[in-house]
Amino acid sequence: MALSPEEELRDALRRLRAEGVQQLGERVREVSEGWSRLASRPQWDDAARHDAKELAASAHRLAGAGGTFGFPAISLAAAPLEVMLLGLSEHVGDSADRIGQTTQLVNAVRAAWEAGPSATGGTEAEANATAQSGEAEAVFLFAAPGEQAALAGVIGNLGYALEQLTGIEALDGIVPGSRITAAVVDDTLPEPIQTAARLSPLCPVILLAKEAGFEARLAAARAGVTATVAKPVDVNELADWLDHFANHNTQARYSILVVDDDPLLAEAYALALRRAGMLVTVVSDPSLAIEALSATTPDLILMDVQMPLVDGIELARVIRQSRRHLSLPIVFLSAEQDTARQLLARRLGGDDFIPKPVDLDRLVTLVRLRAERARSLRAVMESDSLTGLLNHARFKERLSLELERAQREGKELSLAIIDLDHFKGVNDTHGHLVGDRVIRGLARALQKQLRRTDIIGRYGGEEFAAILPGTVEETAAERLNQIRERFSATPFDGAEAPFRVTFSAGIAGSGGHDEPEALISAADAALYAAKRAGRNRVERPS
Ligand code: GH3
Ligand code: MG
Ligand code: MG
Repeated sequence: MALSPEEELRDALRRLRAEGVQQLGERVREVSEGWSRLASRPQWDDAARHDAKELAASAHRLAGAGGTFGFPAISLAAAPLEVMLLGLSEHVGDSADRIGQTTQLVNAVRAAWEAGPSATGGTEAEANATAQSGEAEAVFLFAAPGEQAALAGVIGNLGYALEQLTGIEALDGIVPGSRITAAVVDDTLPEPIQTAARLSPLCPVILLAKEAGFEARLAAARAGVTATVAKPVDVNELADWLDHFANHNTQARYSILVVDDDPLLAEAYALALRRAGMLVTVVSDPSLAIEALSATTPDLILMDVQMPLVDGIELARVIRQSRRHLSLPIVFLSAEQDTARQLLARRLGGDDFIPKPVDLDRLVTLVRLRAERARSLRAVMESDSLTGLLNHARFKERLSLELERAQREGKELSLAIIDLDHFKGVNDTHGHLVGDRVIRGLARALQKQLRRTDIIGRYGGEEFAAILPGTVEETAAERLNQIRERFSATPFDGAEAPFRVTFSAGIAGSGGHDEPEALISAADAALYAAKRAGRNRVERPS
């Protein structure tokens, strides 16, 4: 029986993959046996260094092929293994630390091979997913024609790219794993539950439903519906769900600072962490660590304890002197057996010890968990409770930091101060609760429509501020103006009828002012000018 061209292609791919997997197994054996021979040599002579170099080349091929053929864990270990082997090929004799680390890596490669292929592509897929974050996220909307326009307006105003679909057939071309924030299904469709069931393997499903009895909810749950929003739709509730799903998809990557006086070991850890999708900065001279800290604002520091000149514990002391770094997690890497010193390190806020030689799987897992926890804690501590944005004090700290950074890098940043217009009137007419909702709405609009790298704070009651790094005054004003236009068109549910709110903004660029206070005054003056000129506008210093 003849195969269709598509089947033929699939068949060829399957054969290729099988061949690849077989070769992978051979290479794993080659590296593992080669290292056993090398490690048992009585001395590191030229021949040994030559062998190390050959093994490094094999490790290099393993790193490249592992992820491709369904063994991402092989790549995870083989990449740093290559670095270690190259290092060994260049040195005469070598530390027990490096030999031990290399053995660990070879063991990790072998274990990854023995564990078999992973169905999902694991680490590789994760790294790709995080690398893509920052793309616009689509929301699918399924609604009857009569409801479509109103709902589209609401979702569009929240800053999501919208795909409006009227029939389930439109889903045929979409594969699982596509980047869809969520699908919103309105129950005015003829078959809402069936539609939801079709969508739920692809993305989270939000059902907009009039009836919310137990039976209906159960049917929805069985169809895989993740959230139900009662009609008439509360915009904020829908927005909360969309934001929730969007954040799940696009967590910004963790940033890690590695401090180890052995550049090879440091680079090996860095590679493993990068393979797992993290951003890593390496410092092998401890005296440069503080500078690197303010340049990269990491989520976590991974630090060697035994270093010449300044040891890890001393360095931790120095880091903790700065208020900003009081809660920054520090994970120590240590061959330290001395429990008294371990205790001392813990008292200085060493959150964990990882024994050397390091098990890279454990390292990656632990670093990820610690960074995650630190981030959520920091988010709570530093943020305003109503909006989740940076509070006033934190915002000003960030402004100083960002100004320093901009000057160091020879770039310009802009500051925007934003104030809701006639907001007292909103409270008076619709009540404080509705007023709070407007404040949250503006916070959300700023979060959605500014870039991920912009920094947003709640500056006062109904006043916000944003730092736009790498942005000149004129561009910042344009961007704020777009946000202003969109926001002023967003309806809020009022006491009786929907109403709209506007804001005014003042922008100042760091080109003219390089001290935080001067920059703030300039933006403030521009805001005042915007108010005086009639509100609902964006002004720059005249
Ligand atoms: P302008 O256009 O000149 O800015 O007028 P305005 O009414 O917005 O300015 P004003 O500074 O006179 O009033 C600010 C109002 O914002 C008064 C205050 O009750 C209200 N407000 C401040 N913080 C909050 C809050 O957290 N929630 C609510 N609902 N209202 C707040
Ligand atoms: Mg105001
Ligand atoms: Mg005000």
